[in-house]
Amino acid sequence: MSLDTLSLYIHIPFCQRKCAYCDFNSYAGLDHLFIPYVRALVAEIAIAGQRWHHPPVETVYLGGGTPTLLSPDLLDDILVACRQAFAVHPDAEITCEANPGTVDRQRFADLRCLGVNRLSLGVQSFEDDELRLLGRVHTVEGAEAAFRAARAVGFANINLDLIFGLPGQRRGTWRRTLCRAIALAPEHLSLYALSIEEGTPLAREVAEGHVPPPDDDLAADFYLIASDELAGAGYVHYEISNWARNEVDEPGGAGVSPGFSCRHNLTYWHNGSYLGFGAGAHSSLDGRRWWNVRVPAEYIERLEKVQSPRWQREDR
Ligand code: SF4
Repeated sequence: MSLDTLSLYIHIPFCQRKCAYCDFNSYAGLDHLFIPYVRALVAEIAIAGQRWHHPPVETVYLGGGTPTLLSPDLLDDILVACRQAFAVHPDAEITCEANPGTVDRQRFADLRCLGVNRLSLGVQSFEDDELRLLGRVHTVEGAEAAFRAARAVGFANINLDLIFGLPGQRRGTWRRTLCRAIALAPEHLSLYALSIEEGTPLAREVAEGHVPPPDDDLAADFYLIASDELAGAGYVHYEISNWARNEVDEPGGAGVSPGFSCRHNLTYWHNGSYLGFGAGAHSSLDGRRWWNVRVPAEYIERLEKVQSPRWQREDR
């Protein structure tokens, strides 16, 4: 069987430090696995390319974790593997997530050279107190500097991730965060409500009464505030958590192009086909979903033994 077109997600499960609220499949202190992990990724990508007969690819998304912890050479190995195994379209959207505490101007310039044309910065808040509560490795100043550095090297499509509904967050601080985000004029914003996940340090803080539990009604207000502020600033709310700079009227009345809506997000939103590579990565195509083993060392071991990293599957 061959496929018409699809999206690729590549999971990099490494972080400099675990954030207090995070229960994603990401780990600090596994730097010794960077090289074998990328070797395993390259192998998995090559096998999939053969298995699906090198189909066209419209979007590639390097997510995590913190992909920018990997050296440019390792990121290059991954993207070269994608281009060898799949027919990656010359205009493909190639996104890389970046944590502002792990990047500088040179790293952004390297990403541009690798063909990354969309950046997703995990800013989360423009209040230093809130960043401390979340256990982020960066400050507000660092986030703004990272944004400016990305712009300076030519990134023309940048997303900022923000979180709302934080314990103790007030309408005023949320508005300030939105205002500072809008002032930077990113092309795209992703806004997520904080959810307190069992087993995280933040969940313990809440359970022990050191931090107030999030207020769901207030979080709903924050969402409405964001909708108003972002609409006023010219952002289109094109998907539950995502806003993009205005849709663009095509010349000659040829319709409306999606502007800076994230094409990779739209693949998920429209139930399109995607392949996920790496520890815990999910795939969905041809009426089936499956996902890989979560633990990076187990993922590497499976690929080294030329075994499938697939863990579970379900039919839709
Ligand atoms: S940087 Fe992202 S993936 Fe890593 S620990 Fe923080 S929230 Fe989780």
